[in-house]
Amino acid sequence: MTASTAPLFDRVAIIGIGLIGSSLARAVAEYGLARTVVCGDRSEAACIKAMELGIVDAAYTDPVTAVDGADLVVLATPVGTFAAVAEEIGLSLAPGAIVTDVGSVKQVVLRDVAPSLPDGVHLVPGHPVAGTEHSGPEAGFAALFQGRWCILTPPPGTQAEATEKVAELWRRCGSKVEIMEASHHDRVLAITSHLPHLIAYTIVGTAADLEEDTKSEVIKFSAGGFRDFTRIAASDPVMWRDVFLNNREAVLEILQRFTEDLTALQRAIRWGEGDLLQETFTKTRAIRRGIIDAKQA
Ligand code: NAP
Repeated sequence: MTASTAPLFDRVAIIGIGLIGSSLARAVAEYGLARTVVCGDRSEAACIKAMELGIVDAAYTDPVTAVDGADLVVLATPVGTFAAVAEEIGLSLAPGAIVTDVGSVKQVVLRDVAPSLPDGVHLVPGHPVAGTEHSGPEAGFAALFQGRWCILTPPPGTQAEATEKVAELWRRCGSKVEIMEASHHDRVLAITSHLPHLIAYTIVGTAADLEEDTKSEVIKFSAGGFRDFTRIAASDPVMWRDVFLNNREAVLEILQRFTEDLTALQRAIRWGEGDLLQETFTKTRAIRRGIIDAKQA
């Protein structure tokens, strides 16, 4: 076995075998990244499904049993559960083990997970910027992370070797890895991911509140732009509730700026300022082209 194909870990324990956890489990098995991969999920149905799908070697509803002997533990539950899960497993973690996560918000990991980890256990928070609107173990697929960014936010003082091992895990899953501060991550993701989801939830909610006639028209003519919002607004409600509750400040700050920009466009429409509208839409079109060029479309 060459260095680049040897397993990186002996035993990987993934807590939460939903979309992201099961995608990672598949990738770990498919690319030979660990000798054994197990999961811990409070949902017995998810555990049974993960075993049926053959994506883990063992599945446990008790997270303490799941992390027993693991040299890598991945938290892949909604971020609102991190504190409780970390508290439950903390004292059972093997000395030298690495704990990482896939949560969409990063400062919360330092706040909620770090205090429960004993000395000698390394925390390397992470966020694969990849996903779909689907949930559960059946929704996952190994290629989900291919060509996507994975952002790691190790706090100052994190062992460099631990950070590098987690980075290498994601690189072998096909991701590009970037390292940044947790607070910076949360601000960037507030505009690129959290605000768009909030807007989608709002638009679809507003449409759903319209009277019965219009609602049927909304579905009928959804191809006119609304359809893309309905896909985003179908994203997991619990996961997104936890994102907004745990990235409150950054989201509120970005929402304030967005509201001001929206008001400017509202004024432009009211006063017939076509130049301003065209100028804004031309600028945004160039951003879309940039995303396509960066192969992130
Ligand atoms: P998901 O498909 O809903 O799966 C989450 C799984 O965790 C479910 O099986 C759930 O069981 C289980 N779970 C919940 N609380 C638990 C607990 N306390 N202990 C053990 N298991 C528990 O979620 P996901 O979309 O994979 O998201 C997981 C994480 O990835 C979140 O932190 C999210 O922020 C992050 N993330 C998501 C995306 C995305 O696009 N979805 C992208 C990047 C990162 P129940 O069904 O019983 O609740």
